[in-house]
Amino acid sequence: MKNFQTVRGVKDLLPNELSKMRFIEQQASIVCKNACYEEISTPIFEFAKLFEKPLGETSDIVTKENYVFQDRSNNTLMLRPEGTTGVVRAVINESLLQDFPKRYFYYGPMFRYERPQKGRLRQFHQFGAELLGVQDYFADIEIIYLAKCFLKNINILSQTSLKINSLGDNDSRGNYKRELKSFLEKYKNDLSPESKIRLQKNPLRILDSKNKKDIEILSSAPKFQNFLNKSSLDFFNSVCEGLDKLKVNFEIDQTLVRGLDYYSHTAFEFKTNIVGSQDAVLAGGRYDDLSRLISRQMFPGVGWAAGIERLTIMLDYKYSFVPMVGLIGHSNLHYHVLLDYYKRFLENKINSQIIYNGTLSKKFKKANKLKCLFVVVLGENEIENGILQLKNLKTGQQQQLNFEDAIKIIKKKNV
Ligand code: ATP
Ligand code: MG
Repeated sequence: MKNFQTVRGVKDLLPNELSKMRFIEQQASIVCKNACYEEISTPIFEFAKLFEKPLGETSDIVTKENYVFQDRSNNTLMLRPEGTTGVVRAVINESLLQDFPKRYFYYGPMFRYERPQKGRLRQFHQFGAELLGVQDYFADIEIIYLAKCFLKNINILSQTSLKINSLGDNDSRGNYKRELKSFLEKYKNDLSPESKIRLQKNPLRILDSKNKKDIEILSSAPKFQNFLNKSSLDFFNSVCEGLDKLKVNFEIDQTLVRGLDYYSHTAFEFKTNIVGSQDAVLAGGRYDDLSRLISRQMFPGVGWAAGIERLTIMLDYKYSFVPMVGLIGHSNLHYHVLLDYYKRFLENKINSQIIYNGTLSKKFKKANKLKCLFVVVLGENEIENGILQLKNLKTGQQQQLNFEDAIKIIKKKNV
């Protein structure tokens, strides 16, 4: 029979990668908790309609990247492609608005039907932070500073650069959209097929194109900054000043737009050249329109999400799994005693495992291969006398001891 493969674009997470992901998640949680962000978790699937408006009916996610399915009650559901919309929905449903402003972080899998490649999967993980209910630019500075602290904590900040841009308020964006569209109409025939479609549906997204010819055309396109009205410009300048004050290095990148429709004002990305062409490891922005698109409520928000698999590629982290104690029995007859020792070691918080299978020398070889620090050997003699043989595999020293003394010696090494 042919082996089952995983579905294209999803993968098993083996201990090495998973331990890096845990490390990243833990560091991110530490940084967020330190800044008084609380953890929240929303369902992995939601009604598909929840995502359609805020993400944009013409966005990639909604048109071709979504995982939509009918359940047995004929509900149309979507595996969540991102975390922010669910968090905003939860805040509305759970009547958390009274306690605004609110700071949340989340971690979990997201799903997008994309073309799989390095750093781009169909099931991937995001860690995200959201600050809800603050209209002022302070919030944008705070959330970007939080992202910086996180990347610094996992030691990759120096391999990233922060790009920031303003998408302005609705008026500014409308004016710019019109201007950009009429500029691009002149080059319509030279644009990539994807951009041709976007020109009609959502010209701003062409700024995000990775097509060479598109980028060339865009280099002489009108610049967003020139279309920001005074209040949008003031907002953006205040964010930049605040970041300067906190010594957060950044570059203004006028081509930076976010792939989702709900953003306004600040947009930012931490980029790297280590993950190949998938260069954004953390991205975010302000989404003052999001709540209005999914409810009758209206409140501002700003946040970011980091792609954990891309971060693991950047991480210099050595995975090692070293058991303290390998338990070896002379023969199968001794396993019931070994199990009792095993239980007592675990109760004493000493990580240990029974080495099954093979001759005594095979079991020793296995213990060496596992890099156990100690081996405990039990045979007829030891069981009769209520003692055990403790061998330090590093020094080769071997002692006959009772259980309590053995524990003391092992614990000394365990610090
Ligand atoms: P990209 O431009 O790379 O497609 P995006 O703008 O679609 O990214 P966001 O929706 O902002 O990404 O998600 C935030 C982060 O999640 C990204 O910066 C990236 O690190 C990660 N990410 C997004 N899509 C994927 C994916 N398919 N596989 C792995 N990580 C992803
Ligand atoms: Mg994308």
